[in-house]
Amino acid sequence: MDPGEYETCTYCNRSIFPDVAECPYCRHYTDGKGPFGLGAEDSPRRIPRIFVIAGLLVVLAFVLPVLLAVVGWLTSR
Ligand SMILES: [Zn+2]
Repeated sequence: MDPGEYETCTYCNRSIFPDVAECPYCRHYTDGKGPFGLGAEDSPRRIPRIFVIAGLLVVLAFVLPVLLAVVGWLTSR
């Protein structure tokens, strides 16, 4: 399949014809706003992945000492 002849539905990630207004599989409009949309980075509601990773690291930095303290407390008994 030549990827240049098809577009990918941004809702179900299946190949569809580029000139259709509605996805034949999931019946969503091909407006590029689905979870698979490449233009979703422009959306202000989408959190960049780096912030998600940074947030997870921050949470881990707070949780890890507590976990180690709990493990140390459990193993010291
Ligand atoms: Zn679809």
